Amino acid sequence: MLGAELGSEQRQIVFTIEHCDFCNINNKRSFQKGDYVVKASGRCPKCGRDMYISAIYAESLRQQA
Ligand SMILES: [Zn+2]
Repeated sequence: MLGAELGSEQRQIVFTIEHCDFCNINNKRSFQKGDYVVKASGRCPKCGRDMYISAIYAESLRQQA
């Protein structure tokens, strides 16, 4: 997995946000290698059109219960 060897307990998990312009919805999923913002990614579950990546960010696992 990504960042598995950062040391200490500072583990982060990276998320990718896919966005559909037509439905104005976001789909959050785990980051996959090769993802970058504005890349076409996946299909909208509502309209079936291509979605694109609108954001990529990391969350600290320690902040989640
Ligand atoms: Zn859509």
